[in-house]
Amino acid sequence: MFENIGETIKAFVYVVCWIGIGLCCLVGLILLFTGNILSGLLTAAIGSLSTWLSCFFVYGFGELITQTTIVAENTQELKSKLNALSQNAAASAQPAPIPAPVYNVYAPAAPATPVTPVSVPNSDSIQCPQCHTVQPANRKVCWSCGLRFNAANTPKPEITRNEDGSWTCPKCQRRNLAARNTCLSCDYELE
Ligand SMILES: [Zn+2]
Ligand SMILES: [Zn+2]
Repeated sequence: MFENIGETIKAFVYVVCWIGIGLCCLVGLILLFTGNILSGLLTAAIGSLSTWLSCFFVYGFGELITQTTIVAENTQELKSKLNALSQNAAASAQPAPIPAPVYNVYAPAAPATPVTPVSVPNSDSIQCPQCHTVQPANRKVCWSCGLRFNAANTPKPEITRNEDGSWTCPKCQRRNLAARNTCLSCDYELE
């Protein structure tokens, strides 16, 4: 019933407008013939004009609804077209892209053969050759990507001795005398 409300309002206003104008003219004519010339003319002129004006606004309202409905319909059509387009695109999609590496600490996907990690100079740290995460040298498995490290081959960081032969522990940074082969604080062993 209200599906085409804009057009209904416009048609209704059209009819009401002409009826209103007709009535004003009729009343005006009656007044004219009964001797009230001035009020008769005024009723016919002002009455018709005001009827037309008010109908003008209601007609505009109906037109507004009609246009809004058209816009809404067009939007809906555009939406369904876009949906169809994206579905077509999905159907004709290329093979799935190579997935990015999954960084999961709790469920590492360990490869069969352990890999020698990269030693980080001047620190007791190693770097994972796969994901480049820096971590403590004593780790057997990369805590980011789960790569297994070849612990036996973990190279010790190079020790640079001072002028007097003393050396700084790479693990705890303690300075040890030249004669010592192990760190006084943390028992780090020199090679
Ligand atoms: Zn890693
Ligand atoms: Zn130490």
